[in-house]
Amino acid sequence: MSDLSGTHGVIVGIANKRSIAWAIAKALNARGVRLAVTYQGERLEENVRELAAELDRPLILPCDVTNDGQIAALFEAVSQEFGGLDYLVHGAAYALREDLTAPFLQTSREGFRVALDVSAYSLISLSRAAVPLMATRGGGSILTLTYLGSQRVFTNYNVMGVAKAALEASVRYLASELGQQNIRVNAISAGPIKTLAAAGIGGFSSILQVYRDKAPLRRTVETSEVADAASFLLGPAGKAITGEILMVDGGYHIVGT
Ligand code: NAD
Repeated sequence: MSDLSGTHGVIVGIANKRSIAWAIAKALNARGVRLAVTYQGERLEENVRELAAELDRPLILPCDVTNDGQIAALFEAVSQEFGGLDYLVHGAAYALREDLTAPFLQTSREGFRVALDVSAYSLISLSRAAVPLMATRGGGSILTLTYLGSQRVFTNYNVMGVAKAALEASVRYLASELGQQNIRVNAISAGPIKTLAAAGIGGFSSILQVYRDKAPLRRTVETSEVADAASFLLGPAGKAITGEILMVDGGYHIVGT
C-alpha cells in the first residue's frame, strides 16, 4: 500500500478496541495519515484517548452526530490544525435496544427517527462539513459502513436495516453530487463482527454462525480485514471508484442456499 504521508483524515465511530473504525484508524495511521478521532460523549472519552495514544499526533475531539454544534466545532478544529481534509470515515450507528429485539411491526416513531438520524442522516451532515475542507485539497474520499440487512431480512436487525438502506442510498446521491469536486463516496458492507454495536442485536451470535456455515470462505471477517478494504477504497488505489457498496463478508452475499 502506498505511503499517504501529508494527508489528513477524520474518523467518527470509535468506541473501543473492537470498533471497526478503530481498525481503520490504525490502518490509515500506519500509512502516514494524520487523524482526528472523535468520541461520543464523556462515557467513551477515556477509551478513545487511551487508544489514540497509539496514533501519531492525533486530534481527539467530541462528536455526537446528533449535535450540529459539535460537528461544526470538530471541523473548525480540523481546519485550524490540518488546513484541509482528505478522508472522512463514518462509523456511527445506533438504534434503541427495544427496536433490535421486539417485532419490527412495533418500531416506534421515535425509535425510527433516532435510528435514521444517527445512522444515516449523520453521513450527510458530516459530509457537508467535510466538503469545503476537501475542496482545498482538490478532492477527497468519504467512507461509511453498512450491512446486508439493508437488502435482506436478518432476525432482529429491524429498523437498522431500514437505516442502512437509507445510508446506502445517501452514498449514491452524495457520490453523484460530489464527484464533480473529485470527492468520492463509498461504503463497505461488512460481514458480522462482535462489537459493541452488534451486542445490541438480539441473537447476534446465531447470525455469526450462519456466516461460518454458509459463506464461501466458511468464516466471519476481522476488523483488520475491513480496514484493509477501507484503506484501499479511501486511498489512490480506489481513485476511480465512487458510489460503490463493497461487500467484505467472506462472500456470504452471493449464496442462495
Ligand atoms: P461500535 O459500537 O464499535 O461502533 C459504533 C459507533 O457508533 C460507536 O463508536 C458509537 O459511539 C457510535 N455512535 C453511536 N451513536 C452515536 C452518536 N449519536 N454520535 C456519534 N457516534 C455515535 O460497533 P461497530 O460494529 O464497529 O460499528 C461501526 C459501523 O459498522 C456501524 O455503522 C455498524 O452498523 C457497521 N457495521 C457493523 C457490523 C458488525 O457486525 N459489527 C457489520 C456491518 C456494519
